[in-house]
Amino acid sequence: MTLQQNVDLSPFNTLALPGQAARYLKITDPAQLADPELKSEKRFILGGGSNLVLTGDFAGLLLHMAIPGKRLLREDAEAFYIEAGAGENWHDFVQWTLAQGWPGLENLSLIPGTVGAAPIQNIGAYGLEVGECFDSLTAWDFEQQDFVSFDRASCRFAYRDSLFKQQGWHLDGRMAITSVVFRLAKAWQPNIRYADLAQELAAQEINRPTPQDVATAIIAVRQRKLPDPAQIPNTGSFFHNPVVCAEEAGRLAVDHPGLPRYPQPDGRVKLAAGWLIEQAGWKGKNLGPVGMYEKQALVLVNHGGATGADVKRTMAAVQADVRARFALDLQAEPVFL
Ligand code: NAP
Repeated sequence: MTLQQNVDLSPFNTLALPGQAARYLKITDPAQLADPELKSEKRFILGGGSNLVLTGDFAGLLLHMAIPGKRLLREDAEAFYIEAGAGENWHDFVQWTLAQGWPGLENLSLIPGTVGAAPIQNIGAYGLEVGECFDSLTAWDFEQQDFVSFDRASCRFAYRDSLFKQQGWHLDGRMAITSVVFRLAKAWQPNIRYADLAQELAAQEINRPTPQDVATAIIAVRQRKLPDPAQIPNTGSFFHNPVVCAEEAGRLAVDHPGLPRYPQPDGRVKLAAGWLIEQAGWKGKNLGPVGMYEKQALVLVNHGGATGADVKRTMAAVQADVRARFALDLQAEPVFL
C-alpha cells in the first residue's frame, strides 16, 4: 500500500478549490480497504468531488474511490440487474447501460460524479431519483472491519438523502461504498413530465421518444443551462429545494404570485430554490470570485482563484437575502470538508 503525502486536491473537486490532503490513497480494489492501518486514521472518502466544498487542508487520510467495473449481474422476467464499481464515472455508466439496451437511468444523464456517490445523496433529476432504480450496494464498514450489504429499504432513500447521510457515515468516513447494483425494469416508459424535457423533445418533433432520445434531450437541456465544471468550476445545484407545509406555501404565494409550487405525495409543497435565489437578485451576481450562475441561479460558480472561505461568504450572503425576502432557510447541498 503506497500512501502519498501532501497531495493537492484542487484537481479532485469540481469547484477547483485549493487544499491538500495530508495522506492520500487511491482505491482501485475493494481489498485495499481491509488494511488495518486505515482503520485508525481520520478519513474522508472521495468520489468525483462534484458535491464537495473544500474549506482548506485536510489533516487526515483521503481515500479516493476509483474501483472500476460494470457488468450484467443477472436478469429475470421483470428486470436487468447491473453491477458497477464505485469509481465508475456516473454519466459514462448511464450511457453504457443505454448502449447495452438496458434503459431506466436516462433521466440522470450528465450528472457529474461517480457510481459510488450516487446513492449517498440519492441523486435525482427530471423526475427520477436513483433510489427508484436501485437494488443493493456493498460497502466496507471500517468499524466492523467487514463488507456489508444494503438493500433498497435499508438505504432509507428520501429526497436527495439516504441512510449514509442521515447517520453521518459519509462524513465520518465510516462506510466506503465499493459497488452498486441497479435494477432496471424491462417494462420501460419515458418519464418526460418536466417542462424543459417535454419542450426539448417537442422542438425535435419526437412524439414517441426512445430511451436514447430522452438522454439526448436531457444532455442538450443541461448543456444549455448548466456550466461545464471543466470550463466554470461548480458543484451543480448548490442548495436543496425547500419543502414546506401547504399553508406556508399558500401564504408565500399570496405575496409572491409567480412562486413555483410542486405538491409532494406527503401533502407538503416543494419550492424551487433557483427561483427564490433569482428573485433575491442573485442570478448572475458575484461576491468576489464566487457567484450564482447567470443561466441558472441555483448553481454556485468559481470564476477563478476562489477559496473555501469565498464560497462560504457567497453562500451566507445568498441565504441571508433569501431569508430576508421569503423567511426561508436554504440548506447547502454539498459536503464541507
Ligand atoms: P427546473 O426545470 O428549472 O425546475 C426548477 C425546480 O423545480 C427543480 O429543482 C425541480 O425540482 C422543480 N420542478 C420542475 N418541474 C417539476 C415537475 N414537473 N415536478 C416536480 N418538480 C419540478 O430545474 P433545473 O435547475 O433546470 O434542473 C432540472 C433537473 O435537474 C432538476 O430535477 C434538478 O434537480 C436536476 N439537477 C440535479 C442536480 C444534482 O446535482 N442532483 C444538478 C442540477 C440539476 P427537483 O430538483 O426536485 O427535480
